[in-house]
Amino acid sequence: MRLMIKVLHIAIALTLLLIGYSSIVVSAATPYPSQEITSWQMRWGDGTENSGVEVPQNNDQQYWINVNATKEIPHLPSGVSTSWTRISIPNFSYISPSIYIDTLYALHVKVYVNDRLIFEEDRNYIKDNYSLLLPLSQSDSGKTLYIWTETLQDRIGIKNEVVIGEHNLLINDYIKNGLSDVILGCAFFLVAIVLFISSLYINRDYFSSVASLAVVIGSTGILSITYSPFIYTFYSDLGAISNVFLDLALFSLLPALTLLFEKIFGSGKYAIVRRFRQFQVIYSSFCLLCLLINFLSNNSYIEFYYFVSTTIIGFILILQFILLIVCVIIFSLKGNRDAIIFAIGFGTAAFTVVSELLWYYIHKGNYDLFLWKWGIVAFIISLIVILERRLAYSHQQVVNYSKELERFNNELQRSEKMEIISELAASVAHEVRNPLQVTRGFLQLLSEKSVGEEEIFMSMALSELDRASGIITDFLTFAKPEFETISSLNLYNEFKHIESIMQPLCHLNGGKMILDVSGELWVKGNSSKFKQAFINIIKNSIESFRDEGFIYMSVYAEEENVIIHIKDNGEGMDADVLHRLGEPYFTKKNKGTGLGLMVTFRIIEAMQGKVKFTSKKGVGTESITILPLAEAPDDSHSLGG
Ligand code: ADP
Ligand code: MG
Repeated sequence: MRLMIKVLHIAIALTLLLIGYSSIVVSAATPYPSQEITSWQMRWGDGTENSGVEVPQNNDQQYWINVNATKEIPHLPSGVSTSWTRISIPNFSYISPSIYIDTLYALHVKVYVNDRLIFEEDRNYIKDNYSLLLPLSQSDSGKTLYIWTETLQDRIGIKNEVVIGEHNLLINDYIKNGLSDVILGCAFFLVAIVLFISSLYINRDYFSSVASLAVVIGSTGILSITYSPFIYTFYSDLGAISNVFLDLALFSLLPALTLLFEKIFGSGKYAIVRRFRQFQVIYSSFCLLCLLINFLSNNSYIEFYYFVSTTIIGFILILQFILLIVCVIIFSLKGNRDAIIFAIGFGTAAFTVVSELLWYYIHKGNYDLFLWKWGIVAFIISLIVILERRLAYSHQQVVNYSKELERFNNELQRSEKMEIISELAASVAHEVRNPLQVTRGFLQLLSEKSVGEEEIFMSMALSELDRASGIITDFLTFAKPEFETISSLNLYNEFKHIESIMQPLCHLNGGKMILDVSGELWVKGNSSKFKQAFINIIKNSIESFRDEGFIYMSVYAEEENVIIHIKDNGEGMDADVLHRLGEPYFTKKNKGTGLGLMVTFRIIEAMQGKVKFTSKKGVGTESITILPLAEAPDDSHSLGG
């Protein structure tokens, strides 16, 4: 990007320098100002004028058409491929006179002053704009210039004005013609090479995006160079090869552009982008084959080749642009930022290209495309921006992943620690409970024999021992290693137990808890897992408390099910948080694990139940759990509460 800007700066500076230089030359020597010639005459060849050998000296006015430089060139009648142009040279007194023709459409050209041949060129490739600077002699003043032209295409003759003047003045215009295109093209090509080399060192996933961007930029550069009149004017012997490169650039640009689009936005609905790209690759290969055959057979099939490689490609180009624009509009409407950037760049380019192409066809080829390059510059800048955004995005993703990995690692270590601790604690608790039971037995024996004050102390000691044993039993519920025992759970007992465990935490956080459990309700499941599921929900409620927290739990039967409501007046959640509940590692808390609800969901699911959350930010949250009702076991009287 930076390099490209630099190269562009250099290009602009060079162009400005050239313009400055030419104005210095102008001011240095201006004895006689240049004269513009704006009208001349044309006549169509009838096929009998013997390849422009004989200058039509007769003054038969009826065949000659008057042409004005400010108007359009007369259209070539069908069946005609040659023409004569006749220009009256005004009287002049230049020291070294020259005539400058900015644009002349033809493939084969001969120029005469009266009947003296002063220039001839016959192109063996299809590139029909000539830019001519022809030296005259002082004695040519007032004579007539005859230009014989022949073409295979549908335009012929002089476009724009003709200037006669001092040679060293005119040469500046002549050199400038197309030079800026060459500089721009070289800049593009350089950027493409840098990009391509860097794409070799890049991750495989990005290789095709960066490489196709390099091809798009590189072939645009080659197009800019080979389309400009510069090479055909100054290196006309390179014209044929330059023309081949122009076609090659076009054949590679079109599929590469679609590929790049596909890499950025995917292959679209019905894979239409991918299919179009495949079609383009096939068509470009076909064109390449035609180019090769035509080249090897010395231009025998030039008309067919021209039709395949220029006329049809023009239509494919328009089709491609319409397809990409429609896709981009759809993606932009979906709010894809890359698509919006692409749309701006591409829209600018497509607008200039399509309108110029339409203009070209409206004028039956009688128009030179030039605006498109600047549209393409805008487009390429947008492509580079998108690519950089993508790279930055994936870098950010890598950073995020590594952060997540670290967190996950910490979590794993913590849970391993917890497991070891809980196993140790379970064995210790187990070991403590046995001597406790023995001690209780002896105390009981002693208390039966004791009287008075002693008896009171004994019973106090017994009840304290019972409490200690209760605490150990509670603790074991969670700490003991899992046994997958499924039994009938009495919901009254389970929720009383849960309440007793959670009540202290609730109080600590300044909240209140109300439990409403009705009747003899039973479900099938594993007791400690069941508790775990609801403790996770209640713990979240406690953690969501603002000032005066309140948790309401109600359990009742409805048809074949048990319904469990747990409702809090905590901070509540937004819809997007609500949607993500139960997702592993999803947490909004600094020290949260994001595992609580995932475990809850799994446990309830395993019990053939369902949990649903409703919440309103700033109001509170309610969870509704539905579990299938189970029959009371036969020995329920000994378990029930
Ligand atoms: P953790 O509690 O470790 O964050 P959880 O899976 O238990 O993980 O909860 C996930 C997230 O859901 C919490 O971080 C919280 O933002 C939200 N959440 C769950 N329950 C409630 C609730 N009762 N009130 C408000 N937010 C809640
Ligand atoms: Mg939690």
